[in-house]
Amino acid sequence: MTALLEIAGLGKRFGGFTALQDIDLEVQEGERLGLIGPNGSGKSTLVNCICGTLRHDMGQVRFGGKALDRLTAHERTRSGLARSFQLPRPFTTLSLAENLRIPILYAVNARGGQALTGTEIEARCLDLLAEVGLAEKADRLPRDLTQIEMRKLELARAMAAQPKLLFADEVMAGLSHTEVDEIIALLFRLNRQGVTVIMIEHIMRAVMELSQRLVVLVAGRKIADGAPKDVVRNAEVVRAYLGE
Ligand code: ADP
Ligand code: MG
Repeated sequence: MTALLEIAGLGKRFGGFTALQDIDLEVQEGERLGLIGPNGSGKSTLVNCICGTLRHDMGQVRFGGKALDRLTAHERTRSGLARSFQLPRPFTTLSLAENLRIPILYAVNARGGQALTGTEIEARCLDLLAEVGLAEKADRLPRDLTQIEMRKLELARAMAAQPKLLFADEVMAGLSHTEVDEIIALLFRLNRQGVTVIMIEHIMRAVMELSQRLVVLVAGRKIADGAPKDVVRNAEVVRAYLGE
């Protein structure tokens, strides 16, 4: 079976600094993958290179059997990749519903699908907001949201394009125990709907609960890839985390 995402020999440099080196990674459709590593190990850079926010300098990225290397970030979104940003970037002067209308319209347009009526767009916005538990706030502005509501909006915006694969980049940071549980449940639900989920997360409880497989980056290299219970016992991983 061909993997949904196939990364081979990926490398990225910032000037003389090697941020990613020789990364090989395959992700199957429907998987929930955890991507962990110390701060600065290259996790967000990897997401940026896959989604096209950054251009990698070495290796290949294939998605759904198609090479992404020459595609722009928008074209990659169109082919089914979505990501949340570590720092949410909503349109601050637009209501939550309007914040979703834009990516919904964009997705429909990009796929060359039939134009939606105003009512249909409205319904999709509300469905998405309901999905993340923000239906009652449809008319509010992003500045009225709490931290967890902002994360939910960011996830809803990523889901607006109906992606096949979602990168959730530290969407739980700074949340309370019960709020983390809410986001875990939300990611499980999206995954059950068929979305492949790659989560970058420092909260190990969430990582262990959600991940079927765990990949560890240290200083731009992949040092482990396997069953979570094995990976967290891996001597090299333990060393990297204890900073020996
Ligand atoms: P992580 O997400 O694992 O914390 P990042 O991928 O954000 O790490 O960063 C990996 C390394 O690359 C860090 O040392 C960071 O300072 C560096 N880096 C990231 N983005 C840039 C950039 N645009 N220009 C220069 N250096 C960068
Ligand atoms: Mg990061």
